[in-house]
Amino acid sequence: MSKGADVVVAGGGAAGCCIAYLLSKAGLQVTLVEREAVGSHSSGFAFGGMTPQYGPGIPGPMLPLSLTSIDLHQRLAQELREATGIETHFRRRPTLKLSYTEEEVQASQRDIVWQRRDGLDVRWMTPDEARAIEPRIGPAVLGVHYMEPAASVDSYRYVLALVQAAEKHGATVRHGTVIGLRRQGGRVMAVALEKEEVPCDTAVLCVGPWSGAASTWLGLPVPIEPVKGQLIRVQVEGPPLACAFWWAGGYCESKAADGLVWTGATHEHVGFDEVPTPAGRAELMERLVRAFPWMAEGRIVRHTACLRPTSADGLPVLGPVPGWEGVYVATGGGAKGVLLSAVMARAVADLVLAGRTDLDIAAMSPTRFASATMPTIPGAGAQGH
Ligand SMILES: Cc1cc2nc3c(=O)[nH]c(=O)nc-3n(C[C@H](O)[C@H](O)[C@H](O)COP(=O)(O)OP(=O)(O)OC[C@H]3O[C@@H](n4cnc5c(N)ncnc54)[C@H](O)[C@@H]3O)c2cc1C
Repeated sequence: MSKGADVVVAGGGAAGCCIAYLLSKAGLQVTLVEREAVGSHSSGFAFGGMTPQYGPGIPGPMLPLSLTSIDLHQRLAQELREATGIETHFRRRPTLKLSYTEEEVQASQRDIVWQRRDGLDVRWMTPDEARAIEPRIGPAVLGVHYMEPAASVDSYRYVLALVQAAEKHGATVRHGTVIGLRRQGGRVMAVALEKEEVPCDTAVLCVGPWSGAASTWLGLPVPIEPVKGQLIRVQVEGPPLACAFWWAGGYCESKAADGLVWTGATHEHVGFDEVPTPAGRAELMERLVRAFPWMAEGRIVRHTACLRPTSADGLPVLGPVPGWEGVYVATGGGAKGVLLSAVMARAVADLVLAGRTDLDIAAMSPTRFASATMPTIPGAGAQGH
């Protein structure tokens, strides 16, 4: 039995690191258990875009939470810079969504109606109006959906800064694989690793795409599927892109941290396979060149693939676990897990510290899958990639 903690956080991605940071900052003794390295999966390789206009539960319960999360990111960026000296490159900037077909034009124009009604700063632009912002938009574009608020962050630096700041507040980061939980009288008493147990009062499970394993630990379905995404980074002559761009199935932006144009992403249902493929690379480059023909002169300098933790209904799985006093799940951010990590962490910190949160997280309740059949849960029991 190793030295105990107030809270054990399992998983060193964006969700786990942000929770570890907030709880250690509040004075709790936190141990973060990560089986590889912090930020070694999608949290360290994500595009880092924040677009609250789209995603599962939008319009709906995830819109206010996404907007709140952007505000929380802005505050975190400053706090983390002061605490660690790490620049996370959080910045607010517009996102322009490009339409290539009449159907896409109509869909964007319909979305603009509800987005304006919900108070978002969105509008329709002709390609030439958009070229006043970014002159290199290609001729295949029929129209442009201007979207604010929007933002981005360097997700690896974000995770790194969170974990360093947590350590400054006394958190311990340790290597290990969580294999289960122990409880006494309904209350968690330890988190089990492969060779030992870490005693604790509270456990927070943030093991991302591997969260299906928690189904067997908890006796409650946590139906999370890994959805593979590939991303390329392109070196190209010329000034950086003026803002971020989106199109059906993809996006791109010039990143301040490395000066490269990042573009993604594929959506593949291939289990825990994280290997980049020539087909993925070709698809991403083709889409980038359709948006910006001058990118054809670019050189791909990095190609990565990682896994989005995606729930059966697309919404995160967040909150207390019934039947396990002191146990919380925070996962299922899907394609928005970097954006949502800040608000998910805030909610968990509220629940752990005060027993309640003002954030409306009902739609994300872990109990909503309670009637699912346990053996069909993707990823359940998975330990590998
Ligand atoms: C190509 C791509 C682009 C993306 N772009 C964006 C974007 O622009 N904006 C956005 O908001 N989101 C984006 N995402 C989604 C985002 O990256 C994820 O939703 C988010 O990073 C998930 O964070 P997490 O902490 O839940 O999981 P992860 O980052 O996967 O972290 C989970 C951690 O748990 C560890 N672990 C697993 N099992 C155990 C165990 N048993 N014991 C101990 N540790 C364990 C793993 O090693 C891992 O480090 C993108 C994803 C992809 C694939």
